[in-house]
Parts: sequence; C-alpha cells; structure tokens
Amino acid sequence: MPRFSELDLIEPLQRALQAKGYERPTPIQERSIPILLQGRDLLGCAQTGTGKTAAFTLPVLQHLTNNPPAQRGKRPIRALILTPTRELAAQIGESITDYGKNLSLRHAVIFGGVKEGSQIRALERGLDILVATPGRLLDLLNRKYIDLGRVEFFVLDEADRMLDMGFIHDVRRVLTCLPPKRQNLLFSATMPAKIVELAGSFLRNPASVEVTPTATTVERIDQSVFFVERGDKRALLVEFLQRKEVESAMVFTRTKHGANRLATQLTKAGLEAAAIHGNKSQNARQRALEGFRAGKVVVLVATDLASRGIDIDDVTHVFNYELPNEPDSYVHRIGRTGRAGRSGIAVSFCDESEGEYLRDIEQTIGQTIPVITDHPYHCAAAVPPAATGRRGTVRRSSGGGGGSRGGRGG
Ligand code: AMP
Repeated sequence: MPRFSELDLIEPLQRALQAKGYERPTPIQERSIPILLQGRDLLGCAQTGTGKTAAFTLPVLQHLTNNPPAQRGKRPIRALILTPTRELAAQIGESITDYGKNLSLRHAVIFGGVKEGSQIRALERGLDILVATPGRLLDLLNRKYIDLGRVEFFVLDEADRMLDMGFIHDVRRVLTCLPPKRQNLLFSATMPAKIVELAGSFLRNPASVEVTPTATTVERIDQSVFFVERGDKRALLVEFLQRKEVESAMVFTRTKHGANRLATQLTKAGLEAAAIHGNKSQNARQRALEGFRAGKVVVLVATDLASRGIDIDDVTHVFNYELPNEPDSYVHRIGRTGRAGRSGIAVSFCDESEGEYLRDIEQTIGQTIPVITDHPYHCAAAVPPAATGRRGTVRRSSGGGGGSRGGRGG
C-alpha cells in the first residue's frame, strides 16, 4: 500500500494527515483520490468505517484551494455534501475541520432538529463547503438563505440510507438547484437498482470504485453466537469480561440508554467500564476514549452511531450484547477487532426477539455463525426456527460461557 506522501495531495493536506497520524491511505482512499483529483465523477461502493469520508473530503479541499473563486466578496458555496443523518453530517464537519486546518476554507454543517439561527448566520457570512441533511437544506433553500448556483463539487453520501429514510425526492429536488457543470460523487454501501438509476441520472461517465470490507473483515474474525434469555445476558457478559484473555473489549448495545445502564452495571460488578454515545458531552466522550486507549478502561460500551468515526479498532474482543437491526452494523462492529493480522474474537448474544436480525446478518456475511451451546445460559427457545441447519456448526465452547449459574456473574 502506498503512503499518503505518494498521492498528489498538496502540502497543507499532507501536514494535516501527518498530524492525525495517518500514514497510508485506506483502499477506498488509494483508489478514489487520484480519480477525484483528475476531476472525474465517481461512483463509490463503500460503507462507513472504510475511510470514505477522507476519500472525498481531501479532493474537495484540494480542488477548492487550487481553484479560488473568481470574484471577491461573499464566498459562494462551491461544494455541497449531502448526507442522511445529523451524526454523519457532524462527523463530516469534523473531518473537514481536521483535514482543512492548514487551509483557509470555511464550512458549515446544517441539519434539522436544532435551532436554525446559528446555521443561518454561518450561511450569511459566506462559506465554501456546506454539509447538510436534505430536510433542513431544502427548508433553507426554499427560504432563500442558500444559493447553490455556484456549486462545483457535489457529494451524495450514504445514498442507500437516503433512500431507506425516504429522502429520495428531496435529493432529486436538490439536484435541480445545482448548476450543470460540476464534479459529482455518489457513495453507497449497497447498490440496489434504485441507486444505480439515481447515479445514472446525475453522474457523468463516472469511474467506479468498490471496496468490500465485508468478506475480508469477517473471514479473519473468530465469530460465535450464544442463544440466551434477555435477562441472562448481563451475567454471561460479566463472566466473559472477567477472563484474562479479554484485554480490551467493545460491547455494543442498540440504545444510548442501554449503553449507559450496562456500563454502570459492569462497573458495579468490578469491571473498568465506560460508555460512549452521542448524548455524552465531548469531554466525557474524550475522557472515556483516552481511558480506553491508555488501558485504564478495559470495556467500552457503545452504540453503533457513537462508535462510528472513533479511532478505536484494535480490541481483542467485540461483544454484540444486542444484535444490530442493520446487518452492516454487525460487520462494522466486529471489524473493530482482528486488525493488522491479529486474530479477533466477536461474540454475539441472541435472545428470542433477535432471531430475525441474526438471519439477516448471516445472509449479509454469507456465513452461518457457529453456535456455542455448552454454557449454563443456553436458551433453546432463542434459536430461530429456520436455523435448523445450524446443528453442523455447533462448536464446543473453549472455556465456554464459563462458570455456573449464580456464580460470580449471577
Ligand atoms: P469513515 O469510513 O470515513 O467514517 O472513517 C472511519 C475511520 O477511519 C475514521 O475514524 C477516520 O478518522 C479513520 N481513518 C480514515 N482514513 C484513515 C487512514 N488513512 N488511516 C487511519 N485511519 C483513517
């Protein structure tokens, strides 16, 4: 793999990457950045966690820096990045701040659900890059706070999620507000027919780049599933976490509330645990992350959203305390372990209500996850009905779910 210094990126960007400690581009970056620097349109098939944000942010920053606006005066919006959720929008904003710190470009992030005053003020001051979710963008566009007539670079991020969230008409509306001459990018984790059609409607002769972390990530990781009752999950988890081979673990829950509660319970059980999620202040998150990196915190409890965009991916164990309802999240979660050729361990707990999620996950990864049954919490009722073919995959637990009921974990 090349180094960033071998890519044709301008010096202020190289310096910003060094400051982040990034030496080598990820595959999506390695393949997309040269194409984008040539000015071509791009269709990227990649999900969060692959480094796709930098793959488009770096060329946007470079393009805007190398091609300053012709006229003086209020800065026109020259790059528009459309993304489905406020979390993603905020993360892209943070990336622009990080990578653009040695440049003099201005950006703003706008999304719904918050007061619009400061967003409007930022727009009125003038900015080069706008990161937005579709609803708030259209609202402010309709009220003439935003002019997209000078956009040179348009990025549609997570297009398949846009579709799932019902934003497709909004996206089409936005497209009608853009000038004809511009560079376009579309990123999507999956490419259903509707996305291909949408891509065809505005990308011009795009290069396509696909990275599939799914198979490669998944192959290296030792996965297993435990069927348990909901009420037994905590005891089983505590038993696992007390083993000495668990040097650092990420535990995933579906909700912020669940993450908090679980972290508190684990702490009470004598484990060094902390939770990170979007409701925490930036300081509290930072403290938890630093504690984890320094090895003071052994267990980090997280939600999918909170775990995105954080630079922790070298844990010995990932626990799916609750299975994700989106199969891609499973791949992201377990991809936090097993990095750099090390073997990683991913353990999933599946209760009676989660059988369907498990089936979806197995379909996505194209594997049946081995089941561990010889532990005191095994719950036959939680085994999904259609999964009878599992018998062949049952594996003896190495050290098992350990312990006896009512023992130290109980
Ligand atoms: P993304 O897929 O854009 O959400 O990025 C996933 C994570 O990888 C983020 O935490 C980035 O900061 C990080 N990242 C992006 N590019 C690199 C790189 N070349 N080297 C190391 N980490 C990276």
